[in-house]
Amino acid sequence: MKADVLLAGAGLANGLIALAIRKARPDLRVVLLDRAADASDGHTWSCHDTDLAPHWLDRLKPIRRGDWPDQEVRFPDHSRRLRAGYGSIDGRGLMGAVTEAGAEIRWNSRVQDLDADGAMTAGSRVTAPCVMDGRGAQPSPHLAVGFQKFVGIEIETDSPHGVRRPVIMDATVPQQDGYRFIYLLPFTPTRILIEDTRYSDGGDLDDDSLAAASHGYARVKGWTGVEVRRERGILPIALAHDAEAFWADHATGAVPVGLRAGLFHPVTGYSLPYAAQVADVVAGLARRDRLTTDSLRMALRDFALARARQDRFLRLLNRMLFRGCPPDRRYTLLQRFYRMPEGVIERFYAGRLTRADRLRIVTGKPPIPLTRAFRCLPERPLLQENA
Ligand SMILES: Cc1cc2nc3c(=O)[nH]c(=O)nc-3n(C[C@H](O)[C@H](O)[C@H](O)COP(=O)(O)OP(=O)(O)OC[C@H]3O[C@@H](n4cnc5c(N)ncnc54)[C@H](O)[C@@H]3O)c2cc1C
Repeated sequence: MKADVLLAGAGLANGLIALAIRKARPDLRVVLLDRAADASDGHTWSCHDTDLAPHWLDRLKPIRRGDWPDQEVRFPDHSRRLRAGYGSIDGRGLMGAVTEAGAEIRWNSRVQDLDADGAMTAGSRVTAPCVMDGRGAQPSPHLAVGFQKFVGIEIETDSPHGVRRPVIMDATVPQQDGYRFIYLLPFTPTRILIEDTRYSDGGDLDDDSLAAASHGYARVKGWTGVEVRRERGILPIALAHDAEAFWADHATGAVPVGLRAGLFHPVTGYSLPYAAQVADVVAGLARRDRLTTDSLRMALRDFALARARQDRFLRLLNRMLFRGCPPDRRYTLLQRFYRMPEGVIERFYAGRLTRADRLRIVTGKPPIPLTRAFRCLPERPLLQENA
C-alpha cells in the first residue's frame, strides 16, 4: 500500500499533523497506523487558550469536550482566578476530526519495523515518501527527566459538585511524594475529573493509592457518585536536554515527533501546544515543497533546536524544583510563581517567556538558598549522569 504521508501512531502529535496536512494539501493521502483497537478514552488533552495560535483554537474548539472561559489555582497562602480560557479534547474527538478531514486511520496495526520509506505491520508493508514516528515517549540518553505522575478519576456526582471552572492546581492538600496537587476539570455540573498529581523524582506509580487519594479528595468535598472513567500518566519533566545530540542520533529513519522527539513543555510534560506548532511546520513545508522524510527532518530539527534553546530557562526552573528544593517545599516555588502578572503566567505555559519575564521569575526573595540555586545552573552534569 502506498501513501503520501505515513504516520506511525495515531496519538496526539500525529492527529494534529494529519489535520494540518489535510487542511494544507487535501490532495495528499495521509495514513496513520496504530496498534490500539480504537481511539483511546484514556486521555483528556487540555491546554490554556493562550497556548494556541488562533487558527488552532478555531480548529479544536468544535471538538472540545470541555471549554471554559477562565480557571483558578489554590495554594496554602493564596488562591487566584485567572483570565485565560481552558479546554480539553479527547481521543475520540480528535480521531473523529482526523477521519472527517480525510486521513485514514488503520487501527490494530502494530508497527514492527519503521524506516524512512515505510512501515511493516503484521504481514504488510506501507510505503510513503514522508514517514513520521509518533509512537510516544522513549527514553533518551540526551534527555534527563523527573516525573509528573497522576491518576485521575472522572465521577458522575449524585448532585451538583459546585466547581465552576478548572482548578489547574489545588495545592492546599498535604504534600506527599514531591510537589502534590489536585487538578479538577468540571465537564458538567455533575461530571468532574479529579486528578491527584505528584512531581516526583522516581517514575514508579502506585495507581491504587493515587486513585484512592482522588476519591478521598471527593469525599472531603462531600461529592458522592460513581466513577465513570480513569486516566493515568507518568509524564517526563525535562531537567536537561541536548537536542543536537538527540537529532544526531535521528539523522536517518522515520522522523520522530511528539513525545518521541522530546517535544513537550519541560515543566508540565504537556505536549498539545508544541504538537500544534510542529503540525504547522509540517503543513508549511507541505504547502511550499514536496514532503519527504529528509526535507521534514531538516525542518523539524531546526524547529526542535530552536525550541530547546528557548526552553533552557524552563529546564533550569525544573532543576531548582527537583534538585534545589526539598520535596515537601517544592510547592513554595509554584505558590510564588502564581503571584506573577497573568501575562507572565500565560507566556510561561505557552513557552514564550521573554527575557524580562525570566528576570522577573528569578529576582526578588529567592525561594531556595542561593548556594543551592547555583548548584542547579549547569545542565551538562545531569546529562552525564543520565548517559
Ligand atoms: C493520561 C494522560 C493525560 C495527559 N493530559 C495532557 C493534557 O491535558 N495536555 C497535554 O498537552 N498533554 C497531556 N498529556 C501529555 C502528552 O501530551 C500526552 O502523553 C500525548 O498523548 C503525547 O502525544 P504523542 O503523540 O507523543 O503520543 P501519544 O498520544 O501517546 O500517541 C502514541 C500512539 O502510538 C501508538 N503506538 C505505540 N507503539 C506503537 C506501535 N508499535 N505501532 C503502532 N502504534 C503504536 C499508541 O497506541 C498511541 O496511540 C497527558 C498524558 C497522559 C498519559
